[in-house]
Amino acid sequence: MTHPWADDETAALTGMARKFFLAESVPHREKAEANKHVDRELWRKAGSVGLLCASIPEEYGGGGGTFAHEAAIQTAQSSVGDTGFGNSVHSVICAHYINAYGTDEQKRRWLPGMASGDLVCAIAMTEPGCGSDLKALRTTAIQNGDEFVVNGNKTFITNGGQADLVIVVCKTDPEVPGVHGISLVVVETQNAPGYSVGRLLDKMGMHASDTAELFFDNVRVPVNNLLGARGKGFIQTMTQLPQERLILGVGGIAVMEYALAEAIAYTKSREAFGGTLFDLQNTRFVLAECATLVKVARTFVDDCVAKHIQGELDNVTASMTKWWVSDIQGQVVDKCQQLFGGYGFMWEYPITRMAADGRVQRIYGGANEVMKELIARSL
Ligand SMILES: Cc1cc2nc3c(=O)[nH]c(=O)nc-3n(C[C@H](O)[C@H](O)[C@H](O)COP(=O)(O)OP(=O)(O)OC[C@H]3O[C@@H](n4cnc5c(N)ncnc54)[C@H](O)[C@@H]3O)c2cc1C
Repeated sequence: MTHPWADDETAALTGMARKFFLAESVPHREKAEANKHVDRELWRKAGSVGLLCASIPEEYGGGGGTFAHEAAIQTAQSSVGDTGFGNSVHSVICAHYINAYGTDEQKRRWLPGMASGDLVCAIAMTEPGCGSDLKALRTTAIQNGDEFVVNGNKTFITNGGQADLVIVVCKTDPEVPGVHGISLVVVETQNAPGYSVGRLLDKMGMHASDTAELFFDNVRVPVNNLLGARGKGFIQTMTQLPQERLILGVGGIAVMEYALAEAIAYTKSREAFGGTLFDLQNTRFVLAECATLVKVARTFVDDCVAKHIQGELDNVTASMTKWWVSDIQGQVVDKCQQLFGGYGFMWEYPITRMAADGRVQRIYGGANEVMKELIARSL
């Protein structure tokens, strides 16, 4: 399928990336699920073919592309049901924090390694006691001479177990009220005494995705690892959110299209009552409804992607994409799953993984209720 935001180059990129994920990731999924993370080798291979940091400037090792390149790669990854490889957090979110707020020295130090897959990056906002209410975070980074001393716990951190770099959202100035004491500090996890990874968490789905608890016990970080202006961390985070929310929508619509294609193929092949499941009027109506929802969602997401490439996607519309697409994704996948009967409950069927993996789309990246609050404030 061609997208209005895609040109020949990004269309070819989707094709190349899809082949890459089918060859390099899908065959190793069960091992990654058992390990609760993909192999580092996958990161390096993805880097070697240009799938990491595709929209980071070439001078910092990236692909020099736009959000269209990231959307092309995410579409390919989601179209094969790969939810283990944490590239969207690494390339679409973390690399853009560094590119937007980092000094030239920081960008040269971190981005080329992220583009090659030698460095894996995570962003740690959520804590055991706060997620949606980010202002309540308790992790601190207190300056002591030319270092910050970081203390606190983070949880649910994607890429956390494997991360070489963690962008920690923390309070550098806890005495400052409101959000103005929050900053972003990059912890380089190799040889960082006091830094430890807790459990790789057991999740309902996305079993191959590395989701970890992180602990900071007097971790000393050079003050020049501060990312952006001190005290501006909350605003910096809010500024990056539209892209984070949109990439969830890009993945969500690709999953819906995958689910619909699987359900059509299955119901046309499954025999029952002297015909196929597809011949039954209920099946036809359910699939017709799903096809309609998928088309509407695809049109909306494509429009948002095109706007974002032009720098015109506002926060409210990004919030609409996030809640609505993830909600429709849940409905479409569930309706399709029903058509598989008992096979739709078996792990070897992609539809089962889609149902389990997709549930979190309504929770992370900002819970859908929080998105509705943000939209309502604009009304
Ligand atoms: C697989 C996975 C990966 C994740 N990856 C990362 C990561 O890489 N980095 C990171 O920092 N975090 C990550 N998260 C955390 C995720 O962003 C949070 O779980 C999410 O923001 C919700 O926060 P919470 O879990 O603390 O829920 P809470 O904030 O306790 O909210 C619970 C529920 O209350 C309701 N609610 C909350 N606030 C409001 C409101 N204002 N109005 C109405 N209802 C509300 C919603 O229904 C919400 O789901 C990840 C989570 C998961 C499950």
